[in-house]
Amino acid sequence: AQQMLVSSEKLSTAGQLAASVAHEIRNPITSLKGFLQLLETGIEGKEAYLNIMKDEIEKIESISSELLYIAKPSPNEFKEANIVEMLEEVCMLMRSQARLEDVEVVLDSDLKSYMILCDRSQIKQVFINLIKNAIEAMHEPGEVTIKVTNDHCLSVEVIDQGEGVPDSLKERLGQPFLTTKDKGTGLGLMVTIDILQNHEAQLLIRDREPKGSIFQVKFS
Ligand code: ADP
Ligand code: MG
Repeated sequence: AQQMLVSSEKLSTAGQLAASVAHEIRNPITSLKGFLQLLETGIEGKEAYLNIMKDEIEKIESISSELLYIAKPSPNEFKEANIVEMLEEVCMLMRSQARLEDVEVVLDSDLKSYMILCDRSQIKQVFINLIKNAIEAMHEPGEVTIKVTNDHCLSVEVIDQGEGVPDSLKERLGQPFLTTKDKGTGLGLMVTIDILQNHEAQLLIRDREPKGSIFQVKFS
């Protein structure tokens, strides 16, 4: 199977990032302004406009909260922690979102406990991002599996049965604001890759047969 290594080499310089942030936030703001003007004139169908406005505000909100990590990443707090237990916590957290989409989140681990030196909240964020993407890729009921193995090195695979990553997108994963989703920010994988690099871990991506993707995190 095809496998590719994602690095953050393509991460934009600060200037480019600032420009794209401005662009990404200007769009919803322009639309909010337009709708406010419409509401001022007292048109019909207020409800629908208010809903769109709420979506636009949510978009700005999620962009800003993800950008906060980039602008001011919390200082690394590396401690020994049990990764299997952390994954259990993340799976628990993600199950409520998964249930809404009829997706089961299953932790399949060879190990009960495995200690790694890590920043707990950052590593949890990595798996929140990957599992969230996995759930969002599934458009029908099914299973997202988190597979933990320790064969030469510790590996955590997030396996979905979703639409798969189109080839044209694969090489660009991790670029800021790259998204195929209406409500996506396109910042999740960028943050994920950055955190993993801080931990000297790698992110590998391959297709799952017959459908879906496998996002594998390899700790050294
Ligand atoms: P967002 O989730 O906000 O779109 P991400 O950086 O998390 O941003 O992901 C970027 C893009 O990568 C997604 O919009 C999607 O097109 C693609 N992608 C990520 N994970 C998966 C997956 N498990 N299956 C299919 N496509 C994916
Ligand atoms: Mg995402």
